[in-house]
Amino acid sequence: QDGMASPSPGGNVRVVVRVRKFLPREIQRQAECLISMDPHTQMTRLIAPKPSLDDRDKPKFQARGKILEDKSFTFDNSFWSHDEEDEHFAQQEDVYNCLGEEFLDHNFEGYHTCIFAYGQTGSGKSYTMMGTPEQPGLIPRTCEDLFQRIEDSPSPNISYNVRVSYFEVYNEHVRDLLVPRTDPPHYLRIRESPSEGPYVKDLTEVTARNYAELMKFMRKGDMSRTTASTKMNDTSSRSHAVFTITLKQIHHDLSTDETTERTARIRLVDLAGSERAKSTEATGARLREGSNINKSLTTLGRVIAALAEPKKIRGGRKGKELVPYRDSILTWLLKDSLGGNSKTAMIACIAPADYEETLSTLRYADQAK
Ligand code: ADP
Repeated sequence: QDGMASPSPGGNVRVVVRVRKFLPREIQRQAECLISMDPHTQMTRLIAPKPSLDDRDKPKFQARGKILEDKSFTFDNSFWSHDEEDEHFAQQEDVYNCLGEEFLDHNFEGYHTCIFAYGQTGSGKSYTMMGTPEQPGLIPRTCEDLFQRIEDSPSPNISYNVRVSYFEVYNEHVRDLLVPRTDPPHYLRIRESPSEGPYVKDLTEVTARNYAELMKFMRKGDMSRTTASTKMNDTSSRSHAVFTITLKQIHHDLSTDETTERTARIRLVDLAGSERAKSTEATGARLREGSNINKSLTTLGRVIAALAEPKKIRGGRKGKELVPYRDSILTWLLKDSLGGNSKTAMIACIAPADYEETLSTLRYADQAK
C-alpha cells in the first residue's frame, strides 16, 4: 500500500492535493470518478477502474500485465473540487485561505515562499494558480491580499516596494515572459552571484504600485507563454512558468534615523504537464523536450524530498547537505526559495477519472512529503 504514513507535522514543505470536476468530454464518455477524499483524515483514495469492454485504457494495462488496485495517500490537505453539491466542496477561495494566506504571512515576516502546481495537462494547474476572471486562483488572490495588507499597514515608518518578474523554463532554457516574443526565441543566461546565488541575467523586473498594475504584468506574461500542440492536448503547456513577486519592506527608525530592509520572494509556479512523453506519441525534438521537462520535474521531486527529510540526504564531508539543486535549471534558479527558512508547497492537481496518471501524480507528491 502506498504512502500510509501520516503527514509531516509543520515542516517547511506542505503537500496538498486537489481533484477537479468532470470536463464535458468526461461527462460525454460517462466517466466514473475514481477519487474519494475523507475530509476528516485528509486521506485521498484512488479507486481502480472496473474493467469494461469500452474501457479504452484496458489493452494498455493488460499489455503490461498489471493488476490495478485501490491506493490511499494522506497529504497535509485534500481539496475536493469535484462536485459543487458536496458540502466539503473546495472553492478557489478555500485553497487561498488554506495555503496562500499563510504563505503571505510568512513573506511579510521576511521569508521566501514557493508554491508549485504539479499534475498532468488538464488536471487543473492553471485553474488553481491563475483561475478565471470569475474564479480567480492563487496568483491574483495573493496579489490582491498583498496590496490590501500594504494599504492597511498601520505603521507610517514602513514603506514597501513590490517588484515582479515572470519567466518560463522551456526545454532547460529560460525565456522572459515580460518582453515581446521573438522568433527564434531569445533565451537568457543564468549567472551566479556570490551573495545572491543563481539568477537570470537581464531578466525584466518591474515595479508594481498597485494591484491593477501587478495584474497587468501577470496577464502580459500569460499571453506570452509557450504552448505547442501535441496529439494529446492542443493547448498542452510544455513549460514551467515562474511568477515572482519581490516584496521589500523598508523600516525607518525615526529615533535613530536608520533604515532596515527586509526582502521576501514569492514564487508561484505552474509546472509543465507531468504526463510522460511517450503517451503523446511524441518523437524527435518533441521527445527531447519531453525528457527535459521530466528532468526539471524529476529533479524538483528529489530536491523537495531531500528538503522534507534532510537526514536522508546528509552525506559527504562535514555532513554537508546534498540537495541536487544543480541538476536542473528550474531547481537551480529556485534555490533561494527552496530550503533554508523558505516555505514550499506542492499542490498535486489530479483529474477525477484517469487512474494511471493520477497514480503517478500521487506517488510524486507522496515522495515530497
Ligand atoms: P492544466 O493547467 O493542468 O493543464 P487547466 O487548469 O487548464 O489544466 O484545467 C483544465 C480544464 O479544467 C480547464 O477548462 C479548467 O477551467 C477546468 N478546471 C480545472 N480545475 C477546475 C476546478 N477545480 N473547477 C472547475 N473547473 C476546473
